[in-house]
Amino acid sequence: LIRLNGLSKHYGRLTVLDGIDLEVKAGEVLAIIGPSGSGKSTLLRCINYLEPPDGGTITVDDIVIDAGNPIGRAALSGLRRRVGMVFQSFNLFPHMSVLRNISLPQERVLGRSRKEADARSMQLLSRVGLADKAEQFPIRCSGGQQQRIAIARALALDPEVMLFDEPTSALDPELGLEVLAVMRELAKSGMTMIVVTHEMGFAENVSDTVMIMADGNIVEKGPSKEIMRNPQHERTKRFLRAVH
Ligand code: ATP
Ligand code: MG
Repeated sequence: LIRLNGLSKHYGRLTVLDGIDLEVKAGEVLAIIGPSGSGKSTLLRCINYLEPPDGGTITVDDIVIDAGNPIGRAALSGLRRRVGMVFQSFNLFPHMSVLRNISLPQERVLGRSRKEADARSMQLLSRVGLADKAEQFPIRCSGGQQQRIAIARALALDPEVMLFDEPTSALDPELGLEVLAVMRELAKSGMTMIVVTHEMGFAENVSDTVMIMADGNIVEKGPSKEIMRNPQHERTKRFLRAVH
C-alpha cells in the first residue's frame, strides 16, 4: 500500500533522511522506534508531504509522487485523503464542540452534508468511547480523551493509512493506556498504521513489524517479536537497553 524509494531530506547540510526504502502492506502495523533526532517525525511528515522530501519517490495506493518534480494539486490532495495523521499534540479546534471538530473536516474535504458528517462523527465517537462528549468543548476533556477525539477526526476522512507520531508521549501513563487501547482496536480492525512510539509494549505486542531508525537510516526492520526480543544490530541493542 505504501512504498518509499530512496526518500531523502536535508536541512541545510544536515541529512535527516538518508535514502529510505520502505514498504508497508495493506493491513500492516509498523512501529518505528529510535533515538531522538533520528528522523522519525520527519519521515512521517514526508510521507504525507507536510514536509517536502528532496529526493526519492512516495507511493501510496495509486498515488505516485516523485520528490524531484513539483507536486501537482491533484496528487497532493489524493495523498492527503489517503493518509490520516495524529500528532503528539492533539491540535483540536478549541472554539468548536467535539462533534464539530470531527464533522467540519468531513464537510470541507469530502463534501459530506452536515447530517451525514454528524452521523459518521457520532459513530466514531462511540468507537473511541466518547459518545457522551459530543457537545463538550475540547478543553473540558482530558488529554487522553482529546487524543481519542483527534483519532476519530482523522478516521472520519476514511484514510487508507494512519500515521501516528508519539500519540501518547504527552499523556500521563494511565491516559496513554486509553489511547493505546483505541489504537490496538484500530490495528485489529485491519487499518494500515505507521506508529512512531516510545511504547515498547505496543511495538512488541501490537505492531506486526518494527523498524529502528538512527541518523536518518533504517538500522534494522523485521517481525516485531524477533526484533524486540532478539535484535541483531549493536545499535538496536544499545537503544533497547537504554529504554528498558
Ligand atoms: P524525537 O524522538 O526527538 O521526536 P525524531 O526522530 O522525530 O526525534 P526529527 O524530528 O525527525 O527526529 O528530527 C531529525 C533531525 O532533523 C533533528 O536533528 C532535528 O533537529 C532536525 N530538524 C527537524 N526539523 C527541522 C527543521 N524544520 N529545520 C531544521 N532542522 C530540523
Ligand atoms: Mg519526533
